[in-house]
Amino acid sequence: MSTNDYDIVIVGGGISAATVAKTVIEQAAAQVPPRHPRILVLEAGRATAMSADKYDSYVEAYQGTVAKVPNAPYPASGSAPQPDVLDIGRPVMGPDGTTRVPSDNGYFVQMGPLPFGSDYTRSLGGTTLHWLGTCLRMLPNDFRMKTEYGRGRDWPLGYEDLKPYYERAEWDIIGVSANVEDQVYPGIGGDPEAYFRSADRNRFPDGVYHFPMERIPSSYLDRYLAKKSAGLVVGLTDRNGVEHAFPIKISNTPVGRNSQPAKGYQVVGAVGNADHGQRCEGNSSCIPICPVQAKYNALKTLYELIVKYPDREPEEGAPRKARFAVRSQCVVSRVRHTQQPGRTGTVTGLTFTTYFDDGSAPVETTVTADRYVLAANAVENATLLLASGAANNSDQVGRNLMDHPLLLTWGMFEDSVGAFRGPGSTSGIPAFRDGSFRSERTAFRVEIGNWGWNFPENAPYDTVQDLVGGGESGQVKLYGKELRKRLGEILPRQFRIAWELEQDPEPTNRVTIDDRWKDSLGNHRPVIHYDLSPYMRASLPWAAEASRQLFAQLGIADKVRRPEYRPGDYTHYDPNDPSAVTYEGVTYWVRGAGHVVGTHRMGEDPATSVVDSHQRSHDLPNLYIVGCGSMPTLGTSNPTLTMTALAIRTGDRIAEQLKGTDA
Ligand SMILES: Cc1cc2nc3c(=O)[nH]c(=O)nc-3n(C[C@H](O)[C@H](O)[C@H](O)COP(=O)(O)OP(=O)(O)OC[C@H]3O[C@@H](n4cnc5c(N)ncnc54)[C@H](O)[C@@H]3O)c2cc1C
Ligand code: SF4
Repeated sequence: MSTNDYDIVIVGGGISAATVAKTVIEQAAAQVPPRHPRILVLEAGRATAMSADKYDSYVEAYQGTVAKVPNAPYPASGSAPQPDVLDIGRPVMGPDGTTRVPSDNGYFVQMGPLPFGSDYTRSLGGTTLHWLGTCLRMLPNDFRMKTEYGRGRDWPLGYEDLKPYYERAEWDIIGVSANVEDQVYPGIGGDPEAYFRSADRNRFPDGVYHFPMERIPSSYLDRYLAKKSAGLVVGLTDRNGVEHAFPIKISNTPVGRNSQPAKGYQVVGAVGNADHGQRCEGNSSCIPICPVQAKYNALKTLYELIVKYPDREPEEGAPRKARFAVRSQCVVSRVRHTQQPGRTGTVTGLTFTTYFDDGSAPVETTVTADRYVLAANAVENATLLLASGAANNSDQVGRNLMDHPLLLTWGMFEDSVGAFRGPGSTSGIPAFRDGSFRSERTAFRVEIGNWGWNFPENAPYDTVQDLVGGGESGQVKLYGKELRKRLGEILPRQFRIAWELEQDPEPTNRVTIDDRWKDSLGNHRPVIHYDLSPYMRASLPWAAEASRQLFAQLGIADKVRRPEYRPGDYTHYDPNDPSAVTYEGVTYWVRGAGHVVGTHRMGEDPATSVVDSHQRSHDLPNLYIVGCGSMPTLGTSNPTLTMTALAIRTGDRIAEQLKGTDA
């Protein structure tokens, strides 16, 4: 009989943690005989949002802030600090001309040459509190980049292996709204029904898959674009002079956001108030917060587990159940283990510090379990492992950090396209997601934004500032009725696209630690080295040229002047921007997508990977390291759906291991 405190301890209270916990509990209960594990989640941040009224305090914080950036509603704790996009600074070359001076004005220590432009949230619920909710599956070729295109790495699994887990992620964890027939992607043989053909004969006896909820209706902008771009084929020429043709089709995007449910699907509303958030209401603030929780966040799964499986002895005569506990404000600082360099070992405990808001001194504790799961986000998983000297025989921990660097292009239509209504995005253009060009340059996905120039220009706030004379021009000074009229003319015509570029894994793009940079509890802050490879940069002119052809077709002139309230052209890249990138003499800038991937990659070979295909550490077999960090490459799909599918697979494996134990 185990003498450990718990069967499983999980670090982090985000979607990957919630998915592993739910899967283990449900799969273990379905065994014969059933198992009932006791699971503890240790969460570094506060649990503010676990009740409906306290969630509203986040909404109020969002409403009251000027810079409505992703972490605006979620105040950082000094003991569990978090990155913020407002802190992004570019490291500069020091006076000696050879040593770079890092930018460390935020939580990240940016070593450069480029700053890493994404953030995450350290609050219970994690980064899904402020994600957009886009839920695309990866394409078959994304799993075999090395074999198909001689780039990146192959995964130890393929699309068909992951398909049953994608279905469970869409139905049982996130709740995805989409229609199969809309999902026409390159690389799937032109047949979405075959690509989505179900592997689950219990749920779909005829194999014909459908999503748990209907598509979120396309925005007015989506429909306007579809009409205007009908028949357009973008042509791009590679280095050998070969022209590649990309037929432009506007495609409705699958999202973790509630809409009309299919038969048999139970919509999950807000935490503590199930009547709220049953349908997306078009509040237009999905990033940074959905006021009614129509958008999925990990609190929903955690709340379900807390209610169904309270951490207490069952009452007399009551059937035994799993026990699930969440402890917030507990920052895990060490993975205790027996591993010697070059050898395998065992995790013997996790040390964490509990901090209090009443000024009491923090308390350090060590907890033990039969199995441990790190689910603290790709950057924090790596930082914790490096600080613990754990699971790193391969020297791959922290390396291969990736994101989807976003090239934004924007312009203004002659007519209103209804900007600033509905979710942040409801559609995209999949044409550039796969093709033979991937041997020369990375693929990209096109996200169509519904919120005008919000992302590139901080509209509508900057627009208002400009019109009242506080902006760059200082010429126009409008107030009252005139101001409202002008805003009404300008804002609904704004339009922007995000060209989400696939980043390739590079060992030099990495998270490290350095004793010079620690937080207030003495834990290491992430030190980040980041750049874009020449292979990646080669996609910048392609995306820019594709944008030019598309905009021309849409009637957005190449040089739209906006003298009405600010001189300048549409899509202008300031060379002094912290994330300005130059390629072949042209300056662009890129933004982070929040898709933090690759720091503990999976593979079959312990010499070149950190975890196996079940996300189990090669070096510490009672440790699972889960999340986007395990992904060897990231393709062009936003990573969380794939990460959730992988976490379900891990949960199944852990449940299997509980057989024969006293859980
Ligand atoms: C602005 C933005 C938009 C996004 N939109 C999308 C999208 O549309 N689609 C998509 O697929 N993905 C999107 N993402 C990415 C998505 O949010 C993440 O992939 C996902 O949340 C990762 O889940 P996770 O559980 O691994 O980590 P997280 O959600 O980050 O959760 C990790 C948890 O661990 C806790 N933790 C950290 N360190 C410790 C420690 N030392 N001890 C204890 N606990 C700790 C944290 O507090 C946090 O609660 C977006 C991200 C951002 C920033
Ligand atoms: S559009 Fe509004 S209701 Fe819908 S998900 Fe976004 S914030 Fe929530």
